[in-house]
Amino acid sequence: METANEELDNLWKTALAEIELEVSRANFATWFQNTLILDKEDGVIIVGVPNGFTKEWLSTKYNKFIIKVLRKISPEVKSVDYVISSQPSALLKKNKKREAEDVAAASKESQMEITEIYIDPEANLNPRYTFDNFIVGSFNELAYSAGIAITKNLGTAYNPLFVYGGVGLGKTHLLQAIGNEVKKNNREAKVQYITSEKFTLDFVNSVQNNTPNIFKEKYRKYDLLIVDDIQFFSRKEKTQEEFFHVFNAIYGKNKQIIFSSDRPPKQIEGLEERLRSRFESGMIVDINQPEFESRLAILKAKSELKGITLEMEILEYIASAISENIRELEGALNSIIGQIKMMGKVLTLNDVKEILKKNAKPKKIVSVNQLIKFVCDFYSIEERHLFEKTRRKDVVIPRQIAMYLLREDFNSSYPFIGQKFGGKDHTTVIHAYEKISLLLKSEGKIRDEVEQIRKIIYDSV
Ligand code: ADP
Ligand code: MG
Repeated sequence: METANEELDNLWKTALAEIELEVSRANFATWFQNTLILDKEDGVIIVGVPNGFTKEWLSTKYNKFIIKVLRKISPEVKSVDYVISSQPSALLKKNKKREAEDVAAASKESQMEITEIYIDPEANLNPRYTFDNFIVGSFNELAYSAGIAITKNLGTAYNPLFVYGGVGLGKTHLLQAIGNEVKKNNREAKVQYITSEKFTLDFVNSVQNNTPNIFKEKYRKYDLLIVDDIQFFSRKEKTQEEFFHVFNAIYGKNKQIIFSSDRPPKQIEGLEERLRSRFESGMIVDINQPEFESRLAILKAKSELKGITLEMEILEYIASAISENIRELEGALNSIIGQIKMMGKVLTLNDVKEILKKNAKPKKIVSVNQLIKFVCDFYSIEERHLFEKTRRKDVVIPRQIAMYLLREDFNSSYPFIGQKFGGKDHTTVIHAYEKISLLLKSEGKIRDEVEQIRKIIYDSV
């Protein structure tokens, strides 16, 4: 005979197995691990959860779903209550194997980070971006659902899909996850991920090399074409014209197209009307800044994926201190995890505050012109030299550092930076950014200088 406790354990175990199939690995690890059924009375199930946050999330976001799953197993279930329980979860023990798997997955992930991993050269997809590690909250729910719908009905669900939102909010992650999922379901599917900048470059090259037909054919054969950061088509009339034809060809064959942009189509300046109307002809969804709960969820899931458990107090502190975007959340978390690994000890809340303070980047309170002035003052050069065509070494490096800082700390776009520096091409800016990124790794002198400049900028605000 099963005891009542075993019966409850089994009921929850079966339910979790079902739930695990339906939610992403990250969401499962965040919300369902360390939960258990404490009691069942008159059809009311009492689920024990580790903290108030999980309680709120499960009861607002997952309640209906959980009831549905439980009813399938045990039809007399009427409702579910969630209570915070410090009782060591029986499932904890049974989850040891899972934990081991998670640790293995986490170490695989950190390995991937180091080698900057294998990118599918044909589709240009980065396997790091999947739905499995994509956290869904109210800030990105709509975009996520549209993405999932597309993977199930390529070319017919929402076509084109246009996703817009600020920097670091997960547009590229979502778009690539769609591509990876489509590839996973059908190896034969012809998928292509490309940034609008790369498309432009390809097009310009095809004109220069007099190979327009190769270009035309290449882009017309895809089942799924993903174009990221479409705002950079702005004012590029020839590229827009070419892309218009590519769009029509693909769309005409009922193949899927997905765009992202940092703003809605209406707000992209210098965009041909006929292209704008194409962008607007399907589904438009936005990704917002994640609210506190979602930031917390992201931090929790990401630290667990890395095999590190941080105290709730610490997670809450990071989530309240960093609200801008997910990339910054990740950056903060990585520096904290880095410290933990280096020191080999548990960090206190104060340690964490110190780390975050040190890593804080100057906010936009400093204007672009001020930043340029700081850099010039630092190197004792005149500002006008930075905008001239000179390739003198004492000017080139400061110019590249200014470009680097504008991109890295201020999230300015490459074309914007190019304009700022006397109408330079965005590829020059990309080159500068990459060069300084490299030098920062190899040259102590440059690293010190950039640090000092950052300190000057930071102290000025
Ligand atoms: P964008 O393209 O909007 O600038 P990215 O897709 O590059 O933003 O996201 C920035 C970082 O944040 C990436 O490392 C990405 O994996 C991570 N990220 C963004 N959204 C999510 C999410 N919903 N869940 C998990 N990680 C995310
Ligand atoms: Mg992006």
